[in-house]
Amino acid sequence: MNSQINDLIFDFKLLTKHKKEIEKYLFIPLRKTELCLEIICAKDCDLLSLDKISTKPLKKLFVPKEDILFFLNDFKEKLKIYKLCFKRLEGFEISQTLLDEFLFSLFSFALTKEASDIHIEAKEKSLIIRLRIDGILQQFFTLPKKFFSILSSVIKLKCKLDITQERLPQNGRLSLEFGARKIDFRISIMPIIDGESIVIRILDNSLDSFYLDNLNILPKELALIKKNIKRNSGLIIVTGPTGSGKTTTLYSIMKELASVSKKIISIEDPIEYKIKNVQQIAVNLELNLSFHEILRNLLRQDPDILMIGEIRDEKSLQIAIQAALTGHLVIATLHTNDASSTISRLYDLKAKPFLISCVLRVIVAQRLVLKLCPNCKKKINGFYKAGACLECNMSGFKGRVILAEVLEIDEHLERLIAREDVSIKDYIKSTDFRPFDELKDELLKKGLCSLEEIYKAINI
Ligand SMILES: [Zn+2]
Repeated sequence: MNSQINDLIFDFKLLTKHKKEIEKYLFIPLRKTELCLEIICAKDCDLLSLDKISTKPLKKLFVPKEDILFFLNDFKEKLKIYKLCFKRLEGFEISQTLLDEFLFSLFSFALTKEASDIHIEAKEKSLIIRLRIDGILQQFFTLPKKFFSILSSVIKLKCKLDITQERLPQNGRLSLEFGARKIDFRISIMPIIDGESIVIRILDNSLDSFYLDNLNILPKELALIKKNIKRNSGLIIVTGPTGSGKTTTLYSIMKELASVSKKIISIEDPIEYKIKNVQQIAVNLELNLSFHEILRNLLRQDPDILMIGEIRDEKSLQIAIQAALTGHLVIATLHTNDASSTISRLYDLKAKPFLISCVLRVIVAQRLVLKLCPNCKKKINGFYKAGACLECNMSGFKGRVILAEVLEIDEHLERLIAREDVSIKDYIKSTDFRPFDELKDELLKKGLCSLEEIYKAINI
């Protein structure tokens, strides 16, 4: 939403004073002057009733009704956050508790909205707070600029960072308890033209999104993935552009395979989620613990399954192939656009065609597509389109779908790969492999996604 509301700083006292009427008549008071009360409302609001809310004449600024509904959604929680900020600014209470409470309320709000990141940014005249939900950033709060340095200091203090440093990037972590849930936050602070930009990644281990069954992968492709990850050896490649959800798929596979009778080792950079029964190793360049250094020593750890994150060069592909040849199941990611171009990418990385054919078992190429909000999607001319409702923060979307092409390497394809045959792509077309274009139709038929969003995702 690109609303003009986003640039306005609301007066907390006015919001509280008119709290009941606000929700009843759908308006937002902006400021009170000598002459009038400025309010924001939708064109089709109840103007007659509105005129009774104040003895002063009203000056109205009209905005789309969706913007008002968005602002008033979770009004109670939002009001609490405004209150804590204004209380601190007015200096009634300068205690640390007030700021702790502000952070706690803000983080709880982000958690209930199922956000992945909180962005706190200094603008020229204000401080804005945006949340990334299902990959989309939405602005939820606009606060006075003078609150920024207070907030920035308290975050730095909590992460044990240098609070006097405002000109260099800083990184930190902090943990907070929300009832029985302990949640980690990873914080990055970067100097920008109007102050700083603080980005907080929410690392919620309790998230149940890392299950293969919850990724909305189409049934036929899901069955192929499940069948192939049960192998004892070989190479499985998950591929796609940046932001296509490869990490999500990898974590879900790990969770599916994790068991006490298997040694699973993963190399990650950095570790974002802890997974039970998986030995996760973080790349640490400061300690000279590089990706290659870990890989070189990995096989002596007697693993059954290896997750080696991204194959970035010839060397890492070589080690992956070596491990797969010696009786390990290796799962790795690559950066290619679709399943069939992945094979040529492996040739480019100078792997011997014969060895590729020996180890490669399956390629999963994927995209992340926004899922239509089931509460407000509407069918127009046989196609589902996004609506807008409070459940989806007026965005029309809720959750995401992993659209995955799954290419299983059969015996014939194995032979073609071994001799770098030019007919590989033609052969793939003749099998029952379903490329994105075909998967798209099934997704549309199910009404899970809109055509626009599918095209946007496929054509990255
Ligand atoms: Zn909705």
